[in-house]
This record gives sequence, C-alpha cells and structure tokens, in this order.
Amino acid sequence: MNPVIALVGRPNVGKSTLFNRLTRSRDAIVADYPGLTRDRQYGNGVLGGKAYTVIDTGGIGEEEAGIEAAMADQSLLAIDEADIVLFMVDARAGLMPDDEAIANHLRVNQKKTWLVVNKSDGMQEEVAGAEFWALGLGDPHPIAAAHGRNVTTLIEHVLEPFPEPEEEAHPELLDEGIRIGIVGRPNVGKSTLVNRLLGEERVVVYDEAGTTRDAIEIPFERRGRPYVLIDTAGVRRRKNVSLTAEKFSIIKTLEAIKECHVAVMVLDARTGLVEQDLHLLDFVLSSGRALVLAVNKWDGLEADVKDKMRSELKRRLGFADYADLHFISALHGTAVGDLYPSIERAFASSTTRWSTNRLTNLLHDAVSEHQPPMVNGRRIKLRMAHQGGANPPLIVVHGNQTDALPEAYKRYLTNTFRKVLKVRGTPMRFEFRSGR
Ligand code: GDP
Ligand code: GDP
Repeated sequence: MNPVIALVGRPNVGKSTLFNRLTRSRDAIVADYPGLTRDRQYGNGVLGGKAYTVIDTGGIGEEEAGIEAAMADQSLLAIDEADIVLFMVDARAGLMPDDEAIANHLRVNQKKTWLVVNKSDGMQEEVAGAEFWALGLGDPHPIAAAHGRNVTTLIEHVLEPFPEPEEEAHPELLDEGIRIGIVGRPNVGKSTLVNRLLGEERVVVYDEAGTTRDAIEIPFERRGRPYVLIDTAGVRRRKNVSLTAEKFSIIKTLEAIKECHVAVMVLDARTGLVEQDLHLLDFVLSSGRALVLAVNKWDGLEADVKDKMRSELKRRLGFADYADLHFISALHGTAVGDLYPSIERAFASSTTRWSTNRLTNLLHDAVSEHQPPMVNGRRIKLRMAHQGGANPPLIVVHGNQTDALPEAYKRYLTNTFRKVLKVRGTPMRFEFRSGR
C-alpha cells in the first residue's frame, strides 16, 4: 500500500498549493480526486519511483465552532488514515495561536509529523524557520510550495523509510482466484451484499488482523472456484470495533480498487445516483479496473419507479456503458448470483491476450467495411494492430497520418474491436501511431 501523507494546518498556509504540486507529477494516477466530504481531497503522486497518496485536510480552523471542534473530526480522521503528517505553517504570517492549538493535537498523536514552514521564498531559511521551533515538533523544514523550493527534497526525506514498491502484486492467473472489490459510498448495502455473497459459500480462512484502514480480504469458494472478496465495509469486524468512525474510509476504498481484479460498484436504487457515486466511479474508471455495476435495494419498488430509474441510470451511466448493470436486492438475495458471470467475463476481458494476426485482420476488416477519411488529399492508412498491454487491454494501431484520425472514426474502431473481441466489463485503450 502507498504511504499516505496528510497535509494539516490553518487555512491559507498553502496546503492546496502543495497538494497540487504533489499530485501533478507526470505519473500521477489521479490528480485531484475530490473527497467524499467537501473538505478533504485525495490525490496520488510519484516521486523517485515511489508512489504515495496525499490527503489535503482542507478546513481546519474554518469551522465556526473553532479549531478544537474541527480538529476533532475531519482532520483527525484524515490523520488517522495517514502514515505521515505534514504540519504546515506560514513563514510570512509567523507563529499563530491556531498553529499552537493544532501542534498540541499533533503532539499527542502517534503519527510521524514533519513541521513544514511554507512561503519561505525570498527569505533566509533559518530566519523563516526560527520562531517555529517553539512548537516543539522538531526541525522546521522551510519550503515554498508555490515555487517548488525544497519540495522534492522534503518529500524524498519523508518517503525515505518506505521501501520501493515490489513488482505488481497479482499475477494474472492465480491460484487464489479473481479478486472482487466491493465498493460504494456508505449505506448503499455493501455489508449486506458481502454477507449475502459469503452466506452461501465456504469461507476458507479469515484473517482479522490489519489496521482500520486496510480493506479486509476474504478468500472463499463458489462451485469449486476460488475467489477473494475485498471488503471495504468492515462487515466482519462488527463485533469488536466501534463502527461509525471507521466504517467508511476513502483510503480503504482506493486501496480495494487498486488491489482487486474486478470492482463491483454498489449503487442505491432508493437514492438514485448521487455525486459521491460519481466521484468513486471516476476513480474506478481512471484506475482502468474491470467493473460491474450493481444497483441495490431493487426490492419493493413500484413498476413505474423501476422503469424510470432503469432508464435514468442507463442514461447517466452512459460513460461507463462497458460495464454490466445489474439490479439486485442484497437483502433478499435477488439477482445477486447474476453478478458472477459478469465478474468472470470482466476479468477474462481485462486479461485476455490477442495475437497480432488476429488484431491486424480485425483492423483490416473494419477498415474495408468503413474507410478512414482523406486528409490533405491522401487517405489515412491503418496497417497493423497489436496488443500493447492488458488489464486494461491496450490496442496499438499503426498507420499513416493517424494524428488526423477523427474522433468519430476512433469510436467506430473501438466499438468494432469491443464487439468482435467480445470485450465486456473492462475499459479498453487505443493508441494510434504513425510510422515512417
Ligand atoms: P490552504 O488554505 O492552506 O489550502 O492554502 P492555499 O494553498 O490556498 O494558499 C493560500 C495562499 O498562499 C494562496 O494565495 C497561495 O498562492 C499562497 N501561497 C501558497 N504557497 C506559497 C508560497 O510558497 N509562497 C508564497 N509567497 N505564497 C504561497
Ligand atoms: P453499507 O454501509 O454500504 O455497508 O450498507 P449496509 O449493508 O450496512 O446497508 C445499509 C442499509 O440498507 C441497511 O439498513 C440495510 O438493511 C439496507 N439494505 C441493504 N441492502 C438492501 C436491499 O437490497 N434492500 C433494502 N430494502 N434494503 C437494503
């Protein structure tokens, strides 16, 4: 799992400036992922080959109830999810009472905390840092987030104790089976679904260890086939942990999406699609994960409500129309078993390899069915296609003047490849290269 860095500090010290700098690296997977709560933002970045996740805690001190109250919930949750806290202060504003209040909270926290003095541009570093020694949080580290001064060095230091990541964890074909991540915002019915999925099956082993933010992995068998369920809802710990605070964690959700082969995104028919669903969905899409959509709580709805909901969801989820859409009731078990064929197909689609021959023939068929347009008096030529990668599948098409290929033609090719290769449940990426 990536190290998680929380940015904490008064408003205006430069947290979002640093957040943007840290998540805008060339390799950023998600730049600027809006949190499910208004005042937290999540983003990923990479530095020196090490990937990390950043949380911008946003609003400390903005709340009317004062900094104490604000520290008590939002930021503490973020700090709880983090491995490292960057406590930011403002060199220009100098030491403020709110800085001390936050420092008091951080001192009792066990998390590794770095005191970061921002806006040190145009100042001598020792001068910028001097008065913040008084916070009792160790060395002040002067940076200028807006200009990048010392930022890379700081993050390299911060990440030093974390090992370089090993090669991608899961091989494509595995003894443990398909890894299914159950994700969705709170209350859509994830726990109910996990219990339903497991209720009838044999749970092989169950390891309850792990920190609160780790998603729980539950291996099980269904009809002799192994699977691993990645549970973000915390179902199986219900007995010994107080739930409210830890039940929903974005970090846990992001982790589950990263660690699974197929994400089952649970939606709630009673509320319809809300912004939080779209944020999470956005993350699944940008991760390239295979996806199955499950609209839960489909029981007890009037027929006309169902009709309306069905067509509305189909329309609004058009951007994810490669994913199978199921209408289920986790509570009653209705249509839950139908998820498996979709999961199997999504996994197969995302991991299949096709020969260059097959893809090139398919390209030629598509082109003779429907020619690309002329550009500058010459027809765009598409000669060859090969697979550049899997999970999600990447198809590389070679030709001439491919830069001029209209979007509509690209869509035609994408749709044709999808249909002929029977790819369902996974995004598919295309890259066009001009040779010569
Ligand atoms: P946040 O409220 O903590 O997220 O703070 P912002 O990132 O929104 O920054 C507040 C203000 O400080 C903005 O006007 C930034 O342009 C400015 N700022 C941020 N970093 C620096 C810096 O390194 N130097 C200077 N001079 N200004 C900065
Ligand atoms: P989670 O927060 O996503 O894990 O959601 P839960 O599984 O805890 O479910 C939230 C609430 O929705 C509970 O009261 C469940 O009983 C209810 N619920 C879950 N699935 C269904 C369903 O299929 N139909 C109906 N009517 N209620 C459901």
